Amino acid sequence: MEEDWKTVSRKKKSDDEGFGHIQTISQLQDLIINCSWCKKDFTFLVKDQKYFKNKSFDAPKKCKDCRLKKKQIFADKQAKEAGEAP
Ligand SMILES: [Zn+2]
Repeated sequence: MEEDWKTVSRKKKSDDEGFGHIQTISQLQDLIINCSWCKKDFTFLVKDQKYFKNKSFDAPKKCKDCRLKKKQIFADKQAKEAGEAP
C-alpha cells in the first residue's frame, strides 16, 4: 500500500511538484497511512504534511514510533561501528 503512495507522489512531482493527491494547502486533510514496519495505521497530520511538502520529502511510510526506532537502530549501529576498531 505504501508503494502506491510513493508511485503517486513520484509521478505527480515531475509535473507539478505536487505531493501525490495532496494538491493545495487549503485542501489538505489528515491522512491515514499504514506503517510499513508495524502495520499499524497512523495519522499523517496536515501540519506534518505541510512540513514534508516544504522540505520536498516523500510521505512517510512509517509511524512516528518506527521512525524513532529506526533512528535509534541507526545510531546504535553507528556507535557500534565506531567503537569496533580493528
Ligand atoms: Zn510503525
